[in-house]
Amino acid sequence: MSFSFELAATDGAARAGMLHTAHGDVPTPTFMAVGTAGTVKAMTADAVRATGAKIVLGNTYHLMLRPTAERVARLGGLHKMMDWPGPILTDSGGFQVMSLAKLRKLDETGVTFRSHLDGSAHHLTPERSMEIQYLLDATITMVLDECTKFPATHDEAGASMRLSTRWAKRSRDAFVEREGYGQFGIVQGGVYEDLRRESAAALRELNFEGYAIGGLAVGEGQEMMFGMLDITTKLLPVQKPRYLMGVGTPDDLLGAVARGVDMFDCVMPTRAGRTARAFTSRGIFNLRNARFIDDGAPLDEACTCLCCTRHTRAYLHHLFRAEEMLGPMLLTLHNLTYYQSLMQGARAAILAGEYDAYCARVRAGWAEGGST
Ligand SMILES: [Zn+2]
Repeated sequence: MSFSFELAATDGAARAGMLHTAHGDVPTPTFMAVGTAGTVKAMTADAVRATGAKIVLGNTYHLMLRPTAERVARLGGLHKMMDWPGPILTDSGGFQVMSLAKLRKLDETGVTFRSHLDGSAHHLTPERSMEIQYLLDATITMVLDECTKFPATHDEAGASMRLSTRWAKRSRDAFVEREGYGQFGIVQGGVYEDLRRESAAALRELNFEGYAIGGLAVGEGQEMMFGMLDITTKLLPVQKPRYLMGVGTPDDLLGAVARGVDMFDCVMPTRAGRTARAFTSRGIFNLRNARFIDDGAPLDEACTCLCCTRHTRAYLHHLFRAEEMLGPMLLTLHNLTYYQSLMQGARAAILAGEYDAYCARVRAGWAEGGST
């Protein structure tokens, strides 16, 4: 059978759980580091493990173009290729086709496009996306969907969601069930409650191992995103994991966990790390800022990562000013460690029945720090 999910505790709508997969267990809530092209940028696999990460994400679009899914399979699968024996979730490729590829044409069968790398022509269908994710050996496979644009009218969001629903059915039919593996459906419907209801109901009939919430954090703002989460998480089965795609800031994560989300992914901590921005228990710092030039303090007193225990803010400032590659490496390590510790703290607080107090404490720390 597919993998299993155990709900260990709830605190309000917040949940602490455990995902059991063929490649290991994942305590939830959890943050998945984004390993776009078979690597979490600027990080060795050991460094990713040192952050406390239990599951990483791989991108179908990038890997299907280079080195190709067939080659990854010949090399023993993505786990072996990137030295990550733990669980891997792969996206369907749809989102990046729409954001990166050239000459896209979408119809009922799928999406035809040209590679942004060499202009070669490709046709991504729900069936081909499932085959690629199978070849990559994804622990969690995502259905192919269309991420509804924002803003979209009710008619546009409805038509887009219904196409995604038909593709979800085809994706489910094409999924090869294996012990400890699973497939997630993706709830769409833009910012319209009736469409979210219709989408969730149709997907529940397909009985996925988990459910993702798509089409949020696309410009609607945090308040509207939280409003849609309040509605959507209630529509999903209690005993299955819920994944909010592409979110977000540390504050977004705290708020989404409070609304019943279990899993997240986002490029924010890795991308910010490469551009000198640090997420800390005292808020966000830009290490390029001149005020750090003589600052001998650790980046984050509360953090146990190698960046914070062995180096100073002044050194990090110097590395970014000198454009040394160690700067992005250390800040990526720190940011991912911060995201992991935020989720570990959330889990402990939910288990202890004090999630609200935990959020208040964390937010007070950000406010006291005075971000730069
Ligand atoms: Zn740190």
